[in-house]
Amino acid sequence: MSTDTPGSQSSLHRANLERVLRAVRMAGSLTQAEIARGTGLSAATVSNIVRELKESGTVVVADTSSGGRRARSVSLSGDAGIVVGIDFGHTHLRVAVGNLAHRVLAEESAPIDVDVSAAQGFDHAEALVDRLLAEAGFRPDKVIGVGLGVPGPIDVETGALGSTAILPGWTGIAPGRELAERLGMPVHVDNDANLGALGELVWGAGRGLSDLAYIKVASGVGAGLVVNGQIYRGPGGTAGEIGHITLDEAGPVCRCGNRGCLETFVGSRYLLNLLTPTLGGELSLPRVVELAHQGDLGCRRVIADAGRQIGTGVATLCNLLNPRRVILGGDLADAGELVLGPIRDSVARYAIPSAARQLSVVPGTLGGRAEVLGALALVMSEAGDSSALAVARS
Ligand SMILES: [Zn+2]
Repeated sequence: MSTDTPGSQSSLHRANLERVLRAVRMAGSLTQAEIARGTGLSAATVSNIVRELKESGTVVVADTSSGGRRARSVSLSGDAGIVVGIDFGHTHLRVAVGNLAHRVLAEESAPIDVDVSAAQGFDHAEALVDRLLAEAGFRPDKVIGVGLGVPGPIDVETGALGSTAILPGWTGIAPGRELAERLGMPVHVDNDANLGALGELVWGAGRGLSDLAYIKVASGVGAGLVVNGQIYRGPGGTAGEIGHITLDEAGPVCRCGNRGCLETFVGSRYLLNLLTPTLGGELSLPRVVELAHQGDLGCRRVIADAGRQIGTGVATLCNLLNPRRVILGGDLADAGELVLGPIRDSVARYAIPSAARQLSVVPGTLGGRAEVLGALALVMSEAGDSSALAVARS
C-alpha cells in the first residue's frame, strides 16, 4: 500500500499530503488558496505538496483567475485512477465510469424487472461495467473502487440488505461482497438516498454546503443526511428512514409492519392507487407529473397532498437536524412548485420558526443521475488516498 521512498516522507508530511488530496478529490478542482483555507495548512506547505503531487503525475495544475486575481487551480490527473458507480433501483440499473478529476467518461442506464433475482441483477451489472470500461478505454486494473447503490438499508455489521428493501428477492444478500468477488475490485455499498445526497453534495444542488438532507420520493421514501460535510448513517446504518415516520396510527399498513407511515401516503404505489379509479390504465408517477403540468386537477391535488405530507416529515427533520437545505429527488421532484410549494407550507406550519427560516427546499439538479454520481463520489470519499497515488505512480 505504501508508496514512500525510503526516508523521504515523515508521517506528518504524509498526513498533510493526504489532506490535500482528499480536499481536491471531493471538490473536483480547487485553487491553492482554497486548499490552504480548507485544510488549515500554510500556503507554503500547500505549494510544496502540490509541486510534489504534480511531479508524481497525481494532480494537474492550470492557471485560472479567482476574484479577478491570477490563481492556480489544482485537480486530480485524469490518469490518477478510474471509479465506477452502479445504482440499482426498483426498475432500473444505471452504471457510470468516471475519473478522479470528476469527469464522467461513460454512462448508461437499462430497465430491470423488479422481480429480478440478485444473481441476474449482478450479471447485468457486471456486463455493463465491462462494456463501459472498454468504451472509456480503460483496463479493469485502473479501477480504484466501485460504488454500489441499493434501494434499502444496509446492515453495517453484516453488509446485508435489510428486509424493508424495495427489491423483494434481495433480502439478506450482502451485495457488496457478492459484487467484489465477481468484479475483483473493492466495492463500497450504500443505500440510494445516501448516494443521492452525496451526488447532489458533490455535483448538484448541495455544492458548497455542509449540512443538508436529500429526500428521495419514489417507490419508497428515504432521506440521506449530510452533517458537517459527511453522510450521517447512524451506528446501525438506518439513519434517514424518514419514510417510516408515523403520521396516522390507524392508517394503511406499511411494508415495514407499522401503520400510517409517511410512505403509505406518498410512495408511488399509494399515489397511483388514488388516481387509477378515475384515470385508469397503466399509470406511472412520471405520467401523473406530466398530467399535473398539463392541468389535470386530480393529479395536481394528489401531488399537492403528497407535498403537504412530505412537508410534515421535513418539518420534523428540520427541528431535529437544522439542515441548511432540503433537496427533493425522485420522480415527484419533476412536479416542481406543484409539490415544493405544499412542502414549504407544511414546514412553515410545523417546524420551529428559527429552524424553518434557515431552510431552503429545492429540487435536485441531477434528476435520475443523482444516485449513480453519488456512487462515484462514495468511492472518492472512501477509497484510501494511497490508492490514487499508487495508481498514478505505477
Ligand atoms: Zn413503514
